Amino acid sequence: MTEKRADTRAAVDTGPAASAAGSAGAAGPMTTGGRIGGDLPAPVPPIDADTEAFWRATTEGRLLFTRCDACGEPTWYPREFCPHCGSLRVSWEQASGGGRIHSFTVVRRGGLGPYAGADPYVLAYVELDEGVRMMTNIVDVEDGDLRIGLPVTIVFHTTDGDAALPRFTPLRL
Ligand SMILES: [Zn+2]
Repeated sequence: MTEKRADTRAAVDTGPAASAAGSAGAAGPMTTGGRIGGDLPAPVPPIDADTEAFWRATTEGRLLFTRCDACGEPTWYPREFCPHCGSLRVSWEQASGGGRIHSFTVVRRGGLGPYAGADPYVLAYVELDEGVRMMTNIVDVEDGDLRIGLPVTIVFHTTDGDAALPRFTPLRL
């Protein structure tokens, strides 16, 4: 049982934005109608030496990821080595801020920590235009508009700390 839990944890996005997105919440049943994520909490994420540069950039409205200097593969979450080829030569790169919903769930209740008692919110994996997938929230979205493949664009939600949370909202042309 313990090993199975460990495997599950290893498979999910543990990147700097994942915990701040409320990933511990339980998913409720889908219902229809209403606007979701208009007033989502913006908890201060854990910031350490490895993630400080990432979070500082968010306060400037920039989303960073890492790309391998050796094989060219982009990596999410950002880290100091390439999980594709093992190279230690990686560079920061700025994402365009565009992407598409890869998968999503609507958390109706059961949010934990700062999300306890929050209004329903959307927890999603967004595939960035650069090809990486990050766990995040979809905000300010009509329930009925949510779908896999929906084009989204980034918004930054200011926290009380030295970080802003990268979230996404439907692209409105
Ligand atoms: Zn590589």
